[in-house]
Amino acid sequence: MRDETKCLRSGYTPANGAPGVMPIVQSTTYVFDSTEHIGDLFNLPTEHMYSRFSNPTTEVVEKKIADLEGGVGAMCTSSGQAANLFAVLNLCKAGDSIISVPDIYGGTVNLFSATLKRLGIECIFVDSDADEETIQKAFKPNTKAVFGETLANPALVVFDIERWAAIAHKNNVPLIVDNTFATPMLCKPIEFGADIVTHSTTKYMDGHALQVGGVIVDSGNFDWTCGKFPEFTEPDETYHGVIYTKDFGRAAYIIKARMQLMRDFGAYPAAHSSFLLNLGLETLPVRMERYCSNALKVARFLEGSDKIESVKYPGLESDPDHERAKKYLPKGCSGVISIVIKGGRDKAVEFMDGLKMASNEVHVADIRTCVLHPASATHRQLTDEQLVAAGVTPGMVRVSVGLENVEDIIEDLKQSLDRL
Ligand SMILES: *Cc1c(COP(=O)(O)O)cnc(C)c1O
Repeated sequence: MRDETKCLRSGYTPANGAPGVMPIVQSTTYVFDSTEHIGDLFNLPTEHMYSRFSNPTTEVVEKKIADLEGGVGAMCTSSGQAANLFAVLNLCKAGDSIISVPDIYGGTVNLFSATLKRLGIECIFVDSDADEETIQKAFKPNTKAVFGETLANPALVVFDIERWAAIAHKNNVPLIVDNTFATPMLCKPIEFGADIVTHSTTKYMDGHALQVGGVIVDSGNFDWTCGKFPEFTEPDETYHGVIYTKDFGRAAYIIKARMQLMRDFGAYPAAHSSFLLNLGLETLPVRMERYCSNALKVARFLEGSDKIESVKYPGLESDPDHERAKKYLPKGCSGVISIVIKGGRDKAVEFMDGLKMASNEVHVADIRTCVLHPASATHRQLTDEQLVAAGVTPGMVRVSVGLENVEDIIEDLKQSLDRL
C-alpha cells in the first residue's frame, strides 16, 4: 500500500460485521477466564491486559504509524516529550551519555540538558555541521545514542540524517530522529538510516489541535547484540528472564520500551486521544500537501517584505538548507516558517499583536494559522548561548501556516507588517 492508502487502511481490518472504524475502547482492563491466563500475561504481555501500557484503539494508531514510517513496531506515549524521554531511557542509564545536535525543540533541550542530567545521563551537544573529527571526539565508551530533528523546531534546519546515521553506526550506537515537522508524508528517516523515529503527534499528525501525544517507532534495523547494550541481550529479571533480542528479534527495542518503561512510568495515551489522533492521520497526506503549498506561497511573500530581516524556510531557493531539503524533503517543507522581524524583540511582539486572524498561541502545526515568539515562550528557559545554538533570535517569530485560504493568510500578515 502507498501512504494515502495506509493512512486509511493500516492498523485495522474490520472482521465480518464489525464496526468500520475502530471504536474507542474506553476500558482500563480486559477480562480473562482463568488466573493462569493472567499469570501468563505477567510473564509475557502478548495480549491487552491493562491500559497503562496497551489498548486496542491505541494499537491501531501504533500499527498505522509504524507502517507509515517503515518500522517493525511503534509505541504511543501521552506526549512528544514522553516519546523522546522514553526513546533515550530505553538505551541509557545513569552514567551513560548521548550526543545531540543543538538545533532541536526547546523542550527537548531542557529535557536533555537539565532533566536527563539530574538522572545521571549526560547530553553532549555537537554542531550539526561540525566536521567528522569534531563529532567523533564527542563519542565516549558510554555513548548510547545520537539525536537530531529532521526539520528543526523552530530553526528549520534540515538534519543530514544519512551523514549522522553513518557516524552513529560507525560507533555502534543508534540514531534517533524526531520527525515531528516532516511527518512520514514528507520524510521517512528510516530510509536514510535512522534507527528510532519519534514524533510529537500533537502537531501535524493530529493536525486539529485536539490531543497531546507522542510516538516512538522502531526500525528494527539496529544490531543490539553489538556489545554496547547488555540490557537487550541479558535476562530481564522483572520478566522471569526474558531476553529481548532473543525473544523478540527485530522488535527488541520497542517491546522492551513497552514492557519496562511503559509498565513502570505509564505515560500511555487515553483511548479517546488515540481515536482523535487516528482521525487526523486519515487525512494527513491531503493536509500535508496543502500546508506545504500554502507555506511556500507565504514564505515567498514574506521574503519580499522590507519589514523582515530574514525568512527561514528550506523550500525557498535562497535558503541555505534548500539543497538538503531537495534530498530529504522533496515533497515540501511543512507549514512552518521562521522569520526575523527588523527591530528585534519589540517589533516582533508588535507584529504578532497586530495580527487579526492568525492565532497567538502555544502551538505549531495547527490546522489554523498561528504564530509564536520562541524567545519568550518555548525557548524562554534557554540561556543566550543555547538560544543561538538552537537558532533562535529575539526578533524571531515562528509562523505556522494553516489551511485557511492562502490569500487570507497573506492579507493578515501584510496588514500587520504594513503597520510596523
Ligand atoms: C512539540 C514538540 C515536541 C514535544 O511534544 P509535546 O507533544 O508537546 O510533548 C517534541 N519535538 C518536537 C520537534 C516538537 O515540535
